[in-house]
Amino acid sequence: MTLSAGIEKFNNDCFPAMEAKFKELEKGQSPETLFITCSDSRIDPNLITQTGPGELFVIRNAGNIVPKPGTGELSVEATILYAVDVLKVKRIVVCGHSHCGAVTGLMNLESLNELPEIKSWVSKSSAVLDRLDSDQATLCEGIQQNVKLQMEHLLEFPSVAKAVAANELEIEGWLYHFESGKVEFLD
Ligand SMILES: [Zn+2]
Repeated sequence: MTLSAGIEKFNNDCFPAMEAKFKELEKGQSPETLFITCSDSRIDPNLITQTGPGELFVIRNAGNIVPKPGTGELSVEATILYAVDVLKVKRIVVCGHSHCGAVTGLMNLESLNELPEIKSWVSKSSAVLDRLDSDQATLCEGIQQNVKLQMEHLLEFPSVAKAVAANELEIEGWLYHFESGKVEFLD
């Protein structure tokens, strides 16, 4: 289906049943979850969590990476701070996924030599490589470690650390296996 045909279908078939919900959302949003995931087209955050408009505040980028605060990545940083300080979300989910191309690139950095911007971006997670047995590590282990690293980076944001310490915010790490529909919850 083309995008314009999809919009038409949405307006004809879906929107009428949701109109009251959207009217209510005109007053404002109060999502309880900041959902950080990869840009990969095979992930649909609302579908896998069965949530609708107004329920997830979302950050997406290649590799679901959260650069450490103060490194100039203002898009991610400002969005996290808005979610935590203004919207007062109750949980942050970092959701990695199976067959992640960004983590594949991270684990084979020399393969990105012709793609310097991508190499520079995924290298923000290069600490993952120190945690893997370079010869034996599987992609799945890389994806798990990548999620855990972003959870650690989140705690370096003073607002996040403060809210977690006050039991007002939880950080969860997920690994979504899109081929089976299963979500693995990481410690
Ligand atoms: Zn990915």
